[in-house]
Amino acid sequence: MKKMTCRQLGGACDHVFEVSTFEELAEKSKMHGMEMLQKGDAPHLQAMKKMTGLMESPQKMQEWMEERRKEFEALPDE
Ligand SMILES: [Zn+2]
Repeated sequence: MKKMTCRQLGGACDHVFEVSTFEELAEKSKMHGMEMLQKGDAPHLQAMKKMTGLMESPQKMQEWMEERRKEFEALPDE
């Protein structure tokens, strides 16, 4: 299992995601993000706004995802 925090993924808290694949990580972080937005959590709303700006450019989004994927793959497998 590898661990990455919400903050490392462009989020706003230290919630830890424990996953074995990057796809799983993307899925879990999305779920967490939506949950926090439903709660109206301000820091996550802010983080989400930044991400939305990024998503307007598919190329930037792709680069961002690639960077996260590299970070994830460089993590030690526990
Ligand atoms: Zn979070």
